[in-house]
Amino acid sequence: MKRAPLALLLVLAIAVGAWFHYGKQGAEDIPTRLAYSAIPAELAAGFSGDNALAHVRALDELGPRPPASPGYEKALAYLEAEFSRHGWTAVRQTFSRGTPKGPVTFTNLLARHTAGGIDWSKSTPVVIGGHLDSKAIDAFTFTGANDGGSSTGVILELARVLAGDPAAAAKVEFVLFDGEEALLPNITPTDGLYGSKYYAHEILKRTSWPALGIVLDLVGDSSHGFYYNIEATDAIAAAVEKAAADSEFKLRRSPGPILDDHVPLQNTGLPCLHIIGDFMNMPYWHQEGDTIEVIDAAALEKTGRTTLRFLAGVAP
Ligand SMILES: [Zn+2]
Repeated sequence: MKRAPLALLLVLAIAVGAWFHYGKQGAEDIPTRLAYSAIPAELAAGFSGDNALAHVRALDELGPRPPASPGYEKALAYLEAEFSRHGWTAVRQTFSRGTPKGPVTFTNLLARHTAGGIDWSKSTPVVIGGHLDSKAIDAFTFTGANDGGSSTGVILELARVLAGDPAAAAKVEFVLFDGEEALLPNITPTDGLYGSKYYAHEILKRTSWPALGIVLDLVGDSSHGFYYNIEATDAIAAAVEKAAADSEFKLRRSPGPILDDHVPLQNTGLPCLHIIGDFMNMPYWHQEGDTIEVIDAAALEKTGRTTLRFLAGVAP
């Protein structure tokens, strides 16, 4: 009769001790949402659409880049070399997921500027991302010059420009997402956005969180319109509209939500800017015509300069 109450007391004592322990640890571990202070506006004029176009062409020539393919591996190596050339350290973030076509190993690529040291347990105030993968299509050779290539070219040129101002570069983390494209035809809650979902989950483990996210996609073709996300906060909308006007970039708010890599980031509470070309009116979207011929330097340049002017003007 006496044993039971003693055992119960012991269990209660352990439980209360655990509660105090984790309660205290939890309070200490609440991550800091980093403050963002603007980068210099002068950086924008240094962004070259021709440089970005050269990156898109180089990626396109490596062939299709579906997840875990030889082309994807070549693209990763190209990006690692280019980031390194401008003082950025790139690291691979590899993970596996079940997909409608079986388990797939995905690899995101994250890059930080080396000036000032890099601590991956903490965030930078800004995350700038885009997807690197091209959609896996069996019927024809699909390299996704616009769909995946264009934003990657812009990101590499942004890395070069920001490296010219180490204090500005220290505010930014680049991330190239894998697996944005669904394995089946369309992105659904269970297929596509693999890399951004994983990345969003991983940054929640850090001790500090970004203030702002930017995601670019399908930004290489001036003959179509451009949208920013309907979910943008008032501060983000005002800043991007001014930045676009200053860059002669015809950009307007999307009339409806678009499911892309910014959504998993937004779902963590991170305010995001998403810039995307009007893919619904691109006859080559996920078709044979998404080749280097549809890409023009002007679209890449306006996207890059708008991104930099946005970072110079936004107060998230
Ligand atoms: Zn796509």
